[in-house]
Amino acid sequence: MALLEGKTAIITGAASPRGLGKACAMLFAEHGARICILDLDQAAAQSEADTLPGSGHRGIACDVTSKSQCDTVVRNILEDMQTVDILVNNAGITQPLKIMQIEPENYDAVLDVNLRGTLNMSQALIPHMRERGSGSIVNMSSVSAQRGGGIFGGPHYSAAKAGILGLTKAMARELAPDGIRANAICPGFIATDITAGKLTPEMKAQILEGIPMGRAGKASDVAGCALFLASDLAAYVTGSEVDVNGGSLI
Ligand code: NAD
Repeated sequence: MALLEGKTAIITGAASPRGLGKACAMLFAEHGARICILDLDQAAAQSEADTLPGSGHRGIACDVTSKSQCDTVVRNILEDMQTVDILVNNAGITQPLKIMQIEPENYDAVLDVNLRGTLNMSQALIPHMRERGSGSIVNMSSVSAQRGGGIFGGPHYSAAKAGILGLTKAMARELAPDGIRANAICPGFIATDITAGKLTPEMKAQILEGIPMGRAGKASDVAGCALFLASDLAAYVTGSEVDVNGGSLI
């Protein structure tokens, strides 16, 4: 069953070939959606869009930290594609710093991409979703928001991802009367470029010990959850934070 037939989705930070955003783009496209991949580099975004099944996909350069870029890109997408049903705010960066190592510029960079980027893209698209009386926004948070840190993200990353949870719930409450749903996903330890090559065997063993399912997550595990939240299967689900972590918080 194609869950997103006739729908259009914007997915930010989806040009990383092994990343969560790309996995969402692939699964959404397999379910019939037209995809706009937004990322920093135009060529990378287009080349990942070209790998998706189906037709009509776009790859577009957009730095989500820039409100004016988000507004312009969304305006152009709407002129081009007429409708957008789904927004996945996935772009994110981490910095492995301890609390006293965080300089103002570190704080700004991590908060800007993860949290401000989520607000910028949502603000760019909400007027269109309001006009249509429907829309699904899926925000990528993290287990780091829930347990106060992880291996890669510093405290500022935890703060940004926790901010996303608050923002998601506030958006869900405010936008529900407009027919717009907003939910967050909290991935645990997922094997992607953000985590690749940064682990010693000891670190890996230690992480796996804390995961009842005994394995790292796959990008497709997160994509499956995003597909559910984006689709009408989740028609009565809003303001939720969904854990995709192999049971790490049990
Ligand atoms: P990734 O590094 O593979 O991909 C992130 C993408 O975001 C990259 O393509 C990058 O170019 C893009 N990006 C960075 N800054 C941007 C900006 N200013 N504007 C637009 N795009 C920008 O990371 P990933 O592992 O696929 O993570 C995706 C999301 O999931 C992130 O928000 C991350 O914090 C979150 N997450 C990942 C894990 C994990 O274990 N991999 C766990 C929890 C949460």
